[in-house]
Amino acid sequence: MTATIIDGKAFAAKVRGEVAKHVARLKEEHGITPGLAVVLVGEDPASEVYVRSKGKSTVEAGMNSYEHKLPADTSEAELLALIGRLNADPAVNGILVQLPLPKHLNSDLVINAIEPAKDVDGFHISNVGLLGTGQKAMVPCTPLGCLMMLRDHHGSLAGMEAVVVGRSNIVGKPMAQLLLGDSCTVTIAHSRTKDLGAVCRRADILVAAVGRPEMVPGDWVKPGATVIDVGINRIERGGKTVLVGDVDYDSAVKVAGAITPVPGGVGPMTIACLLANTVTAACRAHGLAEPEGLTA
Ligand code: NDP
Repeated sequence: MTATIIDGKAFAAKVRGEVAKHVARLKEEHGITPGLAVVLVGEDPASEVYVRSKGKSTVEAGMNSYEHKLPADTSEAELLALIGRLNADPAVNGILVQLPLPKHLNSDLVINAIEPAKDVDGFHISNVGLLGTGQKAMVPCTPLGCLMMLRDHHGSLAGMEAVVVGRSNIVGKPMAQLLLGDSCTVTIAHSRTKDLGAVCRRADILVAAVGRPEMVPGDWVKPGATVIDVGINRIERGGKTVLVGDVDYDSAVKVAGAITPVPGGVGPMTIACLLANTVTAACRAHGLAEPEGLTA
């Protein structure tokens, strides 16, 4: 058996198209142009690439992008003052502070200073609590993207056995909450889990969010299972730097029923969901109907 390849790039293009359509409608019918503010502190090259790409995608979707680049020695008070201004600015519907922040800044404090309704990354403690209690939240982009792909592939997820490997606040925990919200039976595994292979083999849905290249081999995958590989790892192979996931794709693709590749799986969905969250935030801010299929 060879798995169906879940094409995250194509699916993300579809989601971005839906977002753009919704943005056009908001402009035409209500004179609203949603806006996303991205704040970057310091000159981390990888973060600069992400921020540029987020800004470009925001504009392509017809929304306004506001980039705020601050020097690496920005004080906490200066950063909090900027967030305060963005919170109060009605043209800004979404605020994203690019992580990681320089070490002298307290990320929790900074993230929790964002107005929860504008917290398009879904990391504010209010949004974490809302998601955990099954209420309307801003949902972290990467797990939201995984959920959208799973719903698209399976329709209902109710009653499925789901195993999430990884318990980070950014991916593993919100992913597990979302799967629980869709009535899966959820197990969260981590570095202290005993016999991880046996735990993974129970899964109808296996989500790997570990950050260890190709750690999950094909013989940990239940035949026919859907495998969502969140991992993005750069390794040297054949004299080149290549991107691989947390799943050993070549062996898993022979056992799984469906699988996301790396690259071209979960990755493209993350920015698409950031755009989706921004348009959702704009609709909520104006008391308008939310776009269907773009929220959890
Ligand atoms: P973290 O490092 O924050 O968390 C990793 C998790 O994996 C931890 O919970 C850790 O367990 C667990 N873990 C580590 N080693 C093992 C092991 N040997 N067995 C079982 N569990 C283990 O990573 P993130 O959640 O932020 O990211 C995970 C991966 O997803 C990374 O590759 C990252 O690059 C990628 N990523 C991709 C995104 C995308 O857009 N596609 C977005 C965000 C992340 P413990 O808690 O016990 O230490």
